[in-house]
Amino acid sequence: MIMTVNGQTKTCGLIGNPVEHTLSPVIHNMLAEITGRNLVYVPFRVEGENLADAVKGAAALGIQGLNVTVPYKERIIPFLEGVDALAQRIGAVNTLVQAPGGYKGYNTDMPGLYRAMLSDGVSVDGEDVIILGAGGVARAVAVMLSEKAGRIFILNRTEQKADAIAEEVNGYAGRQAVKAMPLSSWKDLPDGKYLAVQATSVGMHPCIDDVLIADADFYKRIHTGYDLIYNPFETRFMKLVQKEGGQAFNGLKMLLYQGIIAYELWNGLSVSEKQADRIYERLKESL
Ligand code: NAP
Repeated sequence: MIMTVNGQTKTCGLIGNPVEHTLSPVIHNMLAEITGRNLVYVPFRVEGENLADAVKGAAALGIQGLNVTVPYKERIIPFLEGVDALAQRIGAVNTLVQAPGGYKGYNTDMPGLYRAMLSDGVSVDGEDVIILGAGGVARAVAVMLSEKAGRIFILNRTEQKADAIAEEVNGYAGRQAVKAMPLSSWKDLPDGKYLAVQATSVGMHPCIDDVLIADADFYKRIHTGYDLIYNPFETRFMKLVQKEGGQAFNGLKMLLYQGIIAYELWNGLSVSEKQADRIYERLKESL
């Protein structure tokens, strides 16, 4: 499956800790194969104290591009030569692209989620949205949706974190786009139907029976539920959405498209929907 490694082979990779369970090599090595690039993608487990050296060393070795995962998406920024405007606004970088003197940082997670939604036929334009969670990803989702969605309600166990996101995003959106609420007061949400994005780690393997809100009345308000978790393939959140008549999606396509957008940045090409579909099928088999 992997093409022959020779003197012209380029290397891309992933920096994180841990990296042993990553699906990114599946995405990128298959992309290399189907787009005919002489490229290999490998995971690099990096200890925190070595992060600066790792970035410098990768640049010195001519590593063509890197993804960045937990826990370095924010911590890596000081070691970069520049940061793209969207990544700056989100405050997190998941993709490094070669630039004079080192790497420039990008965030492909959010464009990845947007492209996943397009692929699933889910529109965010003018939609009222509930975001569950106020961690790094929830913050990025709020940034992305503040430009396109209607009202955004961000609900989190720790209310101060939701408050901080609302204040910041409203500041640069120039409108009161985001309202923070404690998780426990979901019954105070205005009447209506919502697109809901589940952006917490609750329900992730192995705790697959966990769910943030179990009350069926909550799910009656949701026409579309997006869980950013992809293991299990169908989370309890998704099942509850579907039980009340909504449509539900997991985070596997977001993972796929964040990888595809990174690959497009590294190689200056466009990956077709047909190629994306092939990789998606392979990803499902790899779960
Ligand atoms: P994070 O910064 O650690 O935030 C975790 C969030 O989960 C916080 O809002 C936290 O609430 C909440 N939470 C955790 N345990 C909880 C519990 N027992 N009860 C209530 N709330 C709880 O994580 P993140 O980086 O934003 O990632 C969030 C999720 O997105 C993860 O599941 C990850 O797998 C997923 N993700 C998916 C993709 C993809 O490509 N599909 C990419 C990145 C991340 P508090 O603030 O109250 O602690």
